[in-house]
Amino acid sequence: MAIVWFRRDLRLHDHPALRWAIEDFERVVPLYVLDDALLKGRWASANRAWFLAGALESLAAAIEERGGRLAVIHGDPRSAVVAFAKSIGADAILASRDHGPYGRARDAAVTIAATGVGIPFLAGRGLLVHEPEDIRRADGGPYSLFSPFHRRWSELPLRAVFDAPGAIPTGDLAADVAATAGRIAGLLGDPRPTADPALLLEPGEPAARARLVRWAASDALRDYHIGRDRLAVDGTSRLSQDLRWGTLSPVEVVERCGGPGAGPARFRAEIAWRDFYAHLLRSEPRVRHESFKREYDAIEWQTDEALIQAWRDGRMGYPIVDAGMRQLRATGWMHNRARMLAASFLTKHLLVDWRIGEAHFMEHLVDGDPASNNGGWQWAASTGTDPQPYFRIFNPTLQGRRHDPTGDYVRRWVPELAAIPGADVHEPPPGAYLPRIVDHALARARSLAAYGSASASGRRNGPAV
Ligand SMILES: Cc1cc2nc3c(=O)[nH]c(=O)nc-3n(C[C@H](O)[C@H](O)[C@H](O)COP(=O)(O)OP(=O)(O)OC[C@H]3O[C@@H](n4cnc5c(N)ncnc54)[C@H](O)[C@@H]3O)c2cc1C
Repeated sequence: MAIVWFRRDLRLHDHPALRWAIEDFERVVPLYVLDDALLKGRWASANRAWFLAGALESLAAAIEERGGRLAVIHGDPRSAVVAFAKSIGADAILASRDHGPYGRARDAAVTIAATGVGIPFLAGRGLLVHEPEDIRRADGGPYSLFSPFHRRWSELPLRAVFDAPGAIPTGDLAADVAATAGRIAGLLGDPRPTADPALLLEPGEPAARARLVRWAASDALRDYHIGRDRLAVDGTSRLSQDLRWGTLSPVEVVERCGGPGAGPARFRAEIAWRDFYAHLLRSEPRVRHESFKREYDAIEWQTDEALIQAWRDGRMGYPIVDAGMRQLRATGWMHNRARMLAASFLTKHLLVDWRIGEAHFMEHLVDGDPASNNGGWQWAASTGTDPQPYFRIFNPTLQGRRHDPTGDYVRRWVPELAAIPGADVHEPPPGAYLPRIVDHALARARSLAAYGSASASGRRNGPAV
């Protein structure tokens, strides 16, 4: 009997550990552990708890349709998983390998506990397209630059994509662990999202697969290299929450979007960014707390709580940035271009520590992912792996005119400006909108000075240890 321990891979299609279990074992017990360290820890989020509940409900229903049962237990996985395995007489525990610092520490502890009682715990591929050991520099080290990483990533063949199993032979499970569909949200405390429920995407594997099928056949994928930067059009896949929770396999996403042309190629490159940041967090776990380029931790960040709250509320007087922040709060998602502008504004214009923005995004994003979010924030703050210097400071007005040329995106999320036509919405007449919280030119000069002096002191002191 094998336990398949589901974590960030809440699907039956293309699930390598599940496939292995079905092929090699007579009984397969799917397991999910409600872990307070994740549900109530540093990155707790009502929106993600809601999505998780829906994805688990859907997984439990799909398992039931195949004659199986999902076991759900509550506890610290470091002891609870092995105790459960012993209690049901399991011969092995299988899972998809997690690369985040918490997941690795947890899995190392489970490995020790499982080995102690003679039950192998084996975690393999499943969360990424390519694993960290697949993509190495010539000297064996990990890449910290995206371009060479992406070249290597694109050359590697994809592994085969597996079908969902037709039957899952779980056998009998004790009533207190067999969590039938319809009861799981209750086990999670019926989480209520902070976003508008009408604007959240449906959780679960069937909804995710429908989104993938639509996206793979769409004109938007063909034109992705252009449409991805247009804020008011549906030019991106909206698959991020499905990749975050594993209701889609990233390998299957890449395979189905494997066609020729600039659009699909650019789309696959974005999935490569996801792998890149996961590999980076594995090789440099310190980036959770520190700037990748350490010298920028010397910046004297502003701590004015009123400014920070105005940013969180989308009330800074720059319509394009305000629109993004309000989209985040209302929908639990934000367009990538808006994420870049909002993050750049906080760190460069307001000179506020990127970690404060990172935490706010993690509170709201349904796709909130420690690796991609940290990578995105450090990219925007110029403290990350991006070789571009800190001089990139987006002009919000020009960015608005370029990426929202009709003004529709701003009017949608900033209804106060609904009467201003076209791109004029990016520069409302005096008195028509909130005053600008900072002046662009002054903020830019201040940011260049602060970053410049941190960079110069980094050069003087040499690399920090
Ligand atoms: C400050 C900031 C924070 C971010 N935080 C997150 C986060 O917490 N979780 C997250 O999944 N993405 C994050 N991103 C990346 C990106 O904004 C989202 O993945 C994207 O907007 C999701 O929408 P989509 O699925 O329509 O993307 P598409 O454009 O359709 O891209 C397809 C997929 O590629 C991946 N992807 C795309 N861009 C990136 C990127 N820059 N880095 C890593 N993966 C990428 C995502 O899995 C995405 O679903 C962040 C970006 C920035 C600038």
